[in-house]
Amino acid sequence: LILSFGSVNIDVTARAVRLPRPGETVHAESYAIGLGGKGANQAAAAARLAASLGLRVALAGRVGQDAFGAQARTGLQEFGVDLSHLRDDPQNPTGLALIGIDADGENSITVAGGANMALDAADIEAAQPLMAQAKVVLLQLEIPLATTLAIAQSARSLGAQVILDPAPAPEHGLPDALWNSIDLITPNESETEHLTGIYPENVDDAARAADALQERGVPAIIVKMGARGVYWRQDGQSGFVSPFRVHAIDTVAAGDCFNAGLATALAQGAPLAEATRVAAACGALATTRKGAAEAAPRWEEVAALLG
Ligand code: ADP
Repeated sequence: LILSFGSVNIDVTARAVRLPRPGETVHAESYAIGLGGKGANQAAAAARLAASLGLRVALAGRVGQDAFGAQARTGLQEFGVDLSHLRDDPQNPTGLALIGIDADGENSITVAGGANMALDAADIEAAQPLMAQAKVVLLQLEIPLATTLAIAQSARSLGAQVILDPAPAPEHGLPDALWNSIDLITPNESETEHLTGIYPENVDDAARAADALQERGVPAIIVKMGARGVYWRQDGQSGFVSPFRVHAIDTVAAGDCFNAGLATALAQGAPLAEATRVAAACGALATTRKGAAEAAPRWEEVAALLG
């Protein structure tokens, strides 16, 4: 079982010629309402990958008792995600991201965490049976940091491999206890810079950043460098995965599809070097299609790209 424990949002995305300035109203050409939130995206993408592998994928989290919550549930069910531990929150609305995109593809995003920010010890307690079955637990940073820490500690004590996607980049860094409670961290370029002060342009930069990350106490590291490839390190071994050549049209949630691929490969027992290749292929394929989780590839497509 792969368990994503994290955020569920509804993304409301409006496309306009340009983004509004403060106090201004602009006319959008179109808008779309879809499933989002890194916890949900990673679960949905993993479920699509796992469908033909006989692997189960579950999402633990919270949605509000509102129309957006119902829409998120329906969307996740269509991907085949186990929602037995997605709880209804009677007090808070479903998480919402208001996304504006201009003609150049530049975006501005306002996120209202809603029910995601109410995740607490009760949710972890309720999810114990699921966590006990999980081989891999996927975490991100769109729920309270204290809850993320408690999930990591609990999942680890139950024997799961804990992967932290440090996204969005934590404003005040991460607490020591969290560094010591995860098995693998997967920052992209800007998150790497945020956590280490080093912006990774190449393998040498990524290796220096990995030194700094390792010093914090995390045993395995993957530095995602977008179209420049991926650096990984574990147990004194390291490697670089060249970017797969694809025609990228939309990088939204490429990182989420990457982590979904990583979890799927690791849950099948692949070593990190191989799992990183699978993940990079998933991320690359996700950039060839529009949307967040909808852009996630199937296992057969990943296998074909890997050759
Ligand atoms: P995030 O969405 O977290 O910013 P990235 O943009 O780094 O993440 O993308 C995640 C992964 O997707 C990359 O590490 C890479 O494996 C793959 N990827 C992203 N953009 C491209 C691209 N243009 N060509 C090939 N692979 C890509």
